[in-house]
Parts: sequence; structure tokens; C-alpha cells
Amino acid sequence: MTAESLHETLPPLYAKWMDDLLGGLVPRESRATCGSCAMRAPPDADKNNRGTFFDPVIKCCTYLPTLYNFLVGRILSETDPAAAAGRETVGARLARGVGVSPLGLMPTPTFSLLYGNSKQSFGKARALKCPHYIEDGGRCGVWANRESTCSTWFCKHVRGNTGYGFWREGLHQLLQAVEIDLARWCLLELNVSPQMLAAAMASKAWKGDAESATGATLDNHPDPAAYARAWAEWRGREQEFYIRCAELVGGLAWKDVRAICGPETRAHARATQDAYRKLTGDEVPAALAAGSFQVVSLGRDTVRLNTYSEYDPIEVPRVVLDLLAQFDGRPTAAVLKAIAKEEGVEIAPDLVRKMADFDLLVDAAGAFPGDA
Ligand code: SF4
Ligand code: SF4
Repeated sequence: MTAESLHETLPPLYAKWMDDLLGGLVPRESRATCGSCAMRAPPDADKNNRGTFFDPVIKCCTYLPTLYNFLVGRILSETDPAAAAGRETVGARLARGVGVSPLGLMPTPTFSLLYGNSKQSFGKARALKCPHYIEDGGRCGVWANRESTCSTWFCKHVRGNTGYGFWREGLHQLLQAVEIDLARWCLLELNVSPQMLAAAMASKAWKGDAESATGATLDNHPDPAAYARAWAEWRGREQEFYIRCAELVGGLAWKDVRAICGPETRAHARATQDAYRKLTGDEVPAALAAGSFQVVSLGRDTVRLNTYSEYDPIEVPRVVLDLLAQFDGRPTAAVLKAIAKEEGVEIAPDLVRKMADFDLLVDAAGAFPGDA
């Protein structure tokens, strides 16, 4: 398994912080082959190749990211000509005014309504295409300053659910907590008026606030009164505001972020370190039980299964599938010995770990609730 520096994977600002927290390389998620998207339907897709596939043009960019104030400022301050197209997409969001808040560029109510009610459209509906996705070349226009969700999402993970646990349940939760705390901290550091602070704190837009949709916002027009309340004394100077936020956050080291952000961030930081240890270690639970899964398709010698994610099915030889029931909570070493003796099949430790990574086998502690 190859590894890569966090600087190759994460936006530079986040990579700098995570280098301090984790202090090591991360395994490369090489199965998410974005240049030639791994979620495209194979050319021979037919009834035997059932599964979930994405539109090859828009891929997984059917999303409207929340770009927090300091990220918007960083994008607006970017002088690299290669970033110009992405900067324009942010300028267009600012100019439309919907979801433009001192906390950042929020999902619009229209998008939140669509996205929240059409989970099966992810990766498929062009109506959900991210405004920062540059179709010419199929790339992200704000790659160097993309937010936590876009920075930590992979359709497939080399180590299955163990990878998912690190990226999504660890790092994503951590960066999301940091983003909202730092966005609010910027408002305090800039000493905004009580009116502006109250409007920002009352807003749930960063979570995708479909409930606050009004006639105007559904038609993608800003609500003038709400906009004036939100921006108060900074109205008309929104870009300057975002750039000031970027200046404030850009100089922070991880120890500063940790000091500024609350216990939620610190708890997520610890969970991320634990998930990182699992991802970079090779431990498997001492006792395993068969996990649950969904059959996607049957081949003559193999079976295609969905386990931890419908985006990452696994092809399992039938002979291995037949042995799963042998894992019944006894110590793993004893089960492997019994399989070798009774079935004449030697199962290598790497295969056991892979089955555990992909939830074909799960930790027996907790797998049999009735035994407690
Ligand atoms: S992460 Fe997105 S772009 Fe990359 S391979 Fe997966 S679906 Fe395709
Ligand atoms: S911000 Fe970039 S990575 Fe995220 S959805 Fe948009 S184009 Fe894709």
C-alpha cells in the first residue's frame, strides 16, 4: 500500500494543521481514480453488472459546498492565473447573493431542498452540479481551498471501512468542527456589531437550511431585509470582510486552532488520531463474527457484495464466502486452525484483515447482543 504526504491530499491550510496532529503519511486512496472516475459504469455494464454508477461528466461533484469565510477570502486572494476560473465561480456565488453570509458561502435553500430529498441522485443529477466544478477538464476550481467534505470524501477506500472511519468519521468531523468554530472566531476578532453577530449565530444555513426557504430564495434571489441584517456594517464590503478572515486564519498553527476551538474539536481530534492509528496499523479484533452484507450480483466463482458502502462493493470468491459462518466469536487463531484442519484451506492474515476492513468480518464483541 503506497502512502502520501497530507500535503498531496488535503488543501495546504488543513495539511499544515493535520501534519502537526498526526505527524505522518496517510495511505493513498488509490482506488478512487478521479482522473478516470472509478464510479463510471464499465463499458460492459449489463444485467450482470448491477451496482451504483455516477455520471462520468460530473462524477461526485453533485454538491454545493459551504465555503467558510476564511476559505472564501483565501480563494479571492489567490493570484495564481491557474486559479482564475475557480475564483470566478466564487465571484458568481457572491454576486447572486443567495446564501452569502458573514460565516461564508452557504448552501442555497433550493439546493438544500433538492439535495436533502434526492439521496439517490448523488453523482447522477446535473441539477446538483457544484458551481465550482469546471467541466472543461473535469476539475475542481477551488481545489486548494476546498472545504472539509470535499477534502475527505472518496468513493472507494483501499482499506474499506477502516479508511472510511479515518476520512469520514474522524477527519471530516474534525475539520467541520474547526471550520464553524474558526468562522465564528473571525467575527469575534473583527469585533462585528451585536446585530451582525446575532444574525450569524441564529443562522443554520451552514447545515443546509431548507426550512428557511422563502419565495425569493427559492427563485434564487436574496431576501434584501435578511441580507441587510446579516451584513449590517459590512454590507457592500463583503469581499474585504472575507479577505480579513483569511488573513486571521492563515497564520494559525494547529496549537492555535486547538486553543481557539472548543471541546468538540478536541474530542474529534482525539477520535481522528485513533482512526489514524487503525488505518496505519494492521491490528484485527481478537475474535470475529460474520458481518452483514447485500448481494449485488452472482458470478460463477465470485459474488459481488455491498458491505460498508454501496459505492465500494467487493468481489468475494464463493469459497471464502462459504467460510464466513465459521467465524462465530471464537478466537480468530482457533477459527483459522479449524478451517485449515476441517476444510483444508489456509487463510492468510492479510485476507482476514481485508475481510475485517470491508466488514465481511466484524468484531465479535458487540456482534452478539444477546450474549451480553
Ligand atoms: S472520488 Fe469522485 S471523482 Fe474520484 S473516483 Fe470517486 S467518484 Fe470519481
Ligand atoms: S468544491 Fe470542488 S471538489 Fe467540492 S463538489 Fe465542488 S468541484 Fe467538487
